[in-house]
Amino acid sequence: MKGSSGLFSVKMRASCSRRHISGAEKIVPPHAVPHTVSQLAERALNHPKGVPDFINIKIENPGAIVRLEALPVVTERTSTPDEGLARAASLLKEAGVLRMDEIMALFRETYSMRGAMLLDADTLERLEPDRERGVRATCMDDSDSILKGTAGGKNHYAEAIVLATKVANAPGIVGEICVSDDPDYVTGYVATRNIGYRRITVIKEKGDPAGGRIFLYRGRREDVASTIRFLEKTPVVVEGVPVLGAVAEERRMDGLAAEMSVIDSAGLRRGIRVLDSPAGPEALAGCRRLAVLSSNDYLDLARDPRVTAAASGASAKWGAGSGGSRLTTGTQPPHVALERHLASFKGTDDAVLFATGYMANVGTIQALVKKGDAIVSDELNHASIIDGCRLSGADVIVYRHGDMDDLARKLSFCREHRRRLAVSDAVFSMDGDMLDLPRFLDVCSANDAFSMIDEAHSTGVAGATGRGLVEHFGCGHPDILLGTLSKALGSAGGFVCCSGEIADFLRNRARSFIFSTSPCPAAAAAADAALTVLENEPWRVEKLRENVGFFTRELARRGISAKSPSAIVPIPVGDERRAMAAASALEESGFLVPAIRYPAVPMGAARLRVALMSSHTRETLSSAAEAIARALGNLV
Ligand code: PMP
Repeated sequence: MKGSSGLFSVKMRASCSRRHISGAEKIVPPHAVPHTVSQLAERALNHPKGVPDFINIKIENPGAIVRLEALPVVTERTSTPDEGLARAASLLKEAGVLRMDEIMALFRETYSMRGAMLLDADTLERLEPDRERGVRATCMDDSDSILKGTAGGKNHYAEAIVLATKVANAPGIVGEICVSDDPDYVTGYVATRNIGYRRITVIKEKGDPAGGRIFLYRGRREDVASTIRFLEKTPVVVEGVPVLGAVAEERRMDGLAAEMSVIDSAGLRRGIRVLDSPAGPEALAGCRRLAVLSSNDYLDLARDPRVTAAASGASAKWGAGSGGSRLTTGTQPPHVALERHLASFKGTDDAVLFATGYMANVGTIQALVKKGDAIVSDELNHASIIDGCRLSGADVIVYRHGDMDDLARKLSFCREHRRRLAVSDAVFSMDGDMLDLPRFLDVCSANDAFSMIDEAHSTGVAGATGRGLVEHFGCGHPDILLGTLSKALGSAGGFVCCSGEIADFLRNRARSFIFSTSPCPAAAAAADAALTVLENEPWRVEKLRENVGFFTRELARRGISAKSPSAIVPIPVGDERRAMAAASALEESGFLVPAIRYPAVPMGAARLRVALMSSHTRETLSSAAEAIARALGNLV
C-alpha cells in the first residue's frame, strides 16, 4: 500500500450523452467511504442540469496527502459587475500582478474551457498544454467535509475555498481570478497566498451563464509541468475551512444585495413615500402640495366625516382590535352587520368578510380548488389571484386577456378535471378595461365551471349606482363575486358575495379567513357607513364617470389617446426608465401620477397609471392632462 495518510479519495463524474453534468471529489477516512459514495450518487442523480446516463464513481487510496491551511476569507462588497471586475483587477495589482487590464481582456477566452487558463503573469504567455481543456485543479477536499456535508448537495462556498487554497499554494502560482458559470451565482473571487481569498459579491450579471478562471504563474518554463502536476494530481486536504453556519448570515445578505443590484440596474427599485395627509384628491408630501391622480379612494369616502365618525365610534365601542379570528372571538356586531349589508348591496344571499382583498382572493381560490382541479385564469389577473392559484395546487391554465373564445377552449380542455374554476378581474387593475361578464358567465355555465370575478375596481365605479358589473350589464351573478373595501369604499378589508352554501364552505375552508385575526371593528364600521353613503349618494358614481370622460377628452386634445370604462386610465409609455422620468417630471409639476413597472405589468409595458376620483375638479384634470403631455414630450 502506497502512502500513509489512511484516507481515500472518492471521485464522482456524471454525464448525459457525454455532456458533463456533475462532478465532485471527497477525501475521507475508510469508515466514511460507503456514506460518501451514496451522497455523491444522490448528488449526481438530482442535479438541476438533468438526469445522467452515466455515473462513474472511483474510490482510491491516493497515497501521501498534503495538508494546507485554508486561505483567510475577506468579503468585498460590490454592487455592479463593472465594479466587481474593477475590484478584482485592483486586488491582484496590489498582490503584484501588474498587467491586469490585459489579463482581464483575456478572461473571455476562458468561458469555453473546462479548466482554467494558465497564464504567465508577466509575459501573458499561455502555458496550458491543451488550450481547450485548460488546467483543472482536482484531488482536494475540506478536511472535515463529512461533518459539513450538505446531504448530497453542493456547498459552493466551501468548495471554492478549498480549490482556491490548493491553487494559491501551487508552486509558481501568484494569483487566481474566478467567475462561476452558474447563471444564478453572481459572486466571484480573486485569491493569492498574500491577500487570501477575496469574495467579490457581484462580479457578473444575474442570469449570465458565462464564467471561467485564470491561474497566474510566475517562474521558469521548465517548472510549469510540476505546477500542473500539483494542481491536477497531488491530493490536498484543506484544514480550517469556515463552517457553513458561520458564513450563512453573510451569504444570505450577499444574495439579497445581489438581487437588489439587479433591480437597480433595471431601473426597478421601489421606495416608500410618506403622505402627510388623509386620502383624497390632494396630498401633502413634506411641505409640498400635490394633486393626487393615483388614489383608489375613487369616491373620496376615506375622509368623509360620516365614515370616519363610524370608525371612531366603533373603536370606542368595540375596541381597536377584534382580539381573535372570525371563528374564535373575532366576530362582533360590526362584522356581521357589514356582511349583511354587502350581500344586500350586491344582491346575493350571503357575504364573507376577510381582512384584505388579497386574503379574500388567496383564501377563496385555495378553498375552492386543489390538486386534480383546474383553474382557467385571465393573463392579466391581479397578483392576489395569481398567488391564490399557485397556492391551491390545482392545474392553472392562463387564457388570453379578455378573450372569451380562448377561455371556452381552455375550459373545454379540462373536462377530465374534478372541478373547474374560471377567474377574472372585473375591471383590470393596470389597464382599467372591463370583463364581458355576460359572455364569461355563459362560457362558465356551458363548461360547468365555477365563475369568479374580482370587483376590487368596479365596486362603487361600474353600474349606475356603483353596484358593479352585474348592474352595469344587467346580467346574472357569478358564483363568487369578490371585492375589497379598500378602494371605492374608503376603508380596508376584503369580501366575497355568494350563495349561503358557498359562504358556509368558505367559512370552513378558506385558510386566510380561518387563521387570521378578523378586521378591526373600526374598518368594518367605516366600510358599512361608506356603503350607506354610496347608496344615498349615487351622484358620486356619476360624477366619477363624468370626470373620466372629461379627462380622456383633455388628453385626446393633446394627442394622447386613452379610453376607460372605469376610473383607471392607463397611459402607455413602454420603457421603464422613460416612465420613471415622466413620473418624476409630473411630480416636479405638482402631480402624483405613478409609473407602473414590472412586475406589476410585463417588462417593456411600463405606463403612467392615472386613477380618478369623483372629487377631482375640472381645473385639476385639464392641468394634469397638460402636464402629462409635457412629461411625455407631446408638448414642448
Ligand atoms: N384585487 C385587485 C384587482 C386589486 O387591485 C387589489 C388591490 N390592489 C386587490 C385585489 C387586493 O385588495 P386589498 O388591497 O384589499 O388587499
